[in-house]
Amino acid sequence: MYSIIDRRELARGNMVSLTVNAPEIARKIRPGQFVVLRINETGERVPLTVAYKNLAHGSITIIFQVVGKSTAMLASLKTGDAIKDLVGPLGCTEHFEKVGTVVGIGGGSGIAVLHHLMEGYAAAGNNLIGIIGARDREMLILEDEMERLCSRLMVTTDDGSYGMHGLVTDAIKKLVEEQVHIDLVMAVGPLIMMRAVCEMTRLYKIPTMVSLNPIMIDATGMCGGCRVTVGNKTRFACVDGPHFDGHAVDFDELMQRNTMYQRDEKQSLLSSIKA
Ligand code: NAD
Repeated sequence: MYSIIDRRELARGNMVSLTVNAPEIARKIRPGQFVVLRINETGERVPLTVAYKNLAHGSITIIFQVVGKSTAMLASLKTGDAIKDLVGPLGCTEHFEKVGTVVGIGGGSGIAVLHHLMEGYAAAGNNLIGIIGARDREMLILEDEMERLCSRLMVTTDDGSYGMHGLVTDAIKKLVEEQVHIDLVMAVGPLIMMRAVCEMTRLYKIPTMVSLNPIMIDATGMCGGCRVTVGNKTRFACVDGPHFDGHAVDFDELMQRNTMYQRDEKQSLLSSIKA
């Protein structure tokens, strides 16, 4: 059992941050890697990327959006409760190199994942520019944490309630117009955002990495549920990723695959609310 030592609500309660006692995972995990958890004996396996680790406390922090039955159950846990199983770290160990200026782009709950990745790029000695976007001011997370890591942080909101009025892609355009030299873009967020970022950076010829979160079941490379097409080859996000060259990803196929169980997911959430 893995006990919850801290629980916070973010973004009007749409996102929850849970800090879990998991010293072995905290010791081994590298930025960008993820864990798979099961809340109880009968729970489904939920893959979640780690936002921070704290070696002194032997803990990891996951930040997730409440989207279905399992995340709603996870969000209902309190400090002192425990998670039945926690497996990790999973996913490739990212090699963070000094490339120069890295622009990290995070949308919505993807900002939590981006934050850990940016720690990796910072440790490798890169100059970091952050772009974080949310629907409105209250949905924005980890602004202070990103500010601490980046030499410049641009914030966008879809409704203009805070920062630049617009989408994260408007902030990229602004950087390019200012002739800021960018060596690498790292984008994490909704698929539609990552696809839009990649379309733009392809035009500007800026290498771009994305963090993919397809449907994942066993997360060991056995089931093939998380397969994605990258550069016309089938890759498994769980063992070959979750980070890929965004310009080579078949986003259309991935978007279609990710909606495959939408009806069942909705049904499962509704029946758990009724129960
Ligand atoms: P959202 O819909 O609120 O969008 C967040 C931001 O993304 C927007 O504010 C905007 O700036 C940008 N964006 C959205 N659509 C865009 C478009 N068409 N063009 C350009 N920019 C666009 O995001 P949300 O509801 O918080 O959803 C977060 C998503 O991130 C979820 O779908 C979740 O699955 C995904 N996510 C991915 C990972 C990962 O590892 N890849 C991790 C966590 C969350």
